[in-house]
Amino acid sequence: MITLDHVSKTYGSGAGAIHALKPTDLHVPQGAIHGVIGLSGAGKSTLIRCVNLLERPTTGRVYVDGEELTALDAASLNRARHRVGMIFQHFNLLSSRTVFANVALPLELMGVAKREIRERVEPLLEMTGLSDKRDKYPAELSGGQKQRVAIARALASRPKVLLCDEATSALDPQTTVSILELLQDINRKLGLTILLITHEMEVVKSICHRVGLISGGELVEQADVGDFFTTP
Ligand code: ADP
Ligand code: ADP
Repeated sequence: MITLDHVSKTYGSGAGAIHALKPTDLHVPQGAIHGVIGLSGAGKSTLIRCVNLLERPTTGRVYVDGEELTALDAASLNRARHRVGMIFQHFNLLSSRTVFANVALPLELMGVAKREIRERVEPLLEMTGLSDKRDKYPAELSGGQKQRVAIARALASRPKVLLCDEATSALDPQTTVSILELLQDINRKLGLTILLITHEMEVVKSICHRVGLISGGELVEQADVGDFFTTP
């Protein structure tokens, strides 16, 4: 579902160039939850942002759902991005919009009719446990509730892939568990493929099927989670 073929990212050039991501191959099959773990500065963010081309790779090709994103023009890329939802450490909600209006935003931008927006947003609020918060503003919500809004918003365009950039790093342990359970639920019920980056072992242990370790911009080790954590 996600394939990176020799994807690399270099910031700057010449002597000051930073090789944030060295040529990387990665395949995440449909329906998988794949984690990439690493220390701060290892290249996790760069890697995940290359998947939806928030960051344009310096070399290599990115495929999502059989389509090469790195080959698309701007308009086609915009359409293709509807198939790739993303959530962030700090939620990135719009403070001037209610919960409902935050979740509806991607659909408004896609030109979906008002009635259909209602029909699509309601079940998402229900699935994420936010039905009674629909008219609240982000400032009135807890961190966990804000991340639920962000998840509902990411699902609004009916993506096939969800990218999670340190999605639980700003949350306390108990809230982290509830958000991870929600992600697992979404993976099972919707068959959504999930790629997540994290610096937390527990996140990987609790929900990932496969995991890669990134260090110095290199994906150095990939294994099924069971094998990854087995000490020899
Ligand atoms: P992580 O997410 O694992 O903390 P990043 O992908 O953010 O790592 O960063 C990898 C390396 O690339 C770091 O050395 C970082 O300083 C550098 N880097 C990230 N973004 C930029 C940028 N926009 N310009 C220059 N260097 C960057
Ligand atoms: P799955 O989800 O079954 O693991 P993908 O969705 O990643 O498979 O791949 C589906 C299709 O995407 C492939 O059959 C191929 O056409 C195209 N594709 C994926 N990766 C590559 C690649 N590295 N080079 C060329 N085509 C690719």
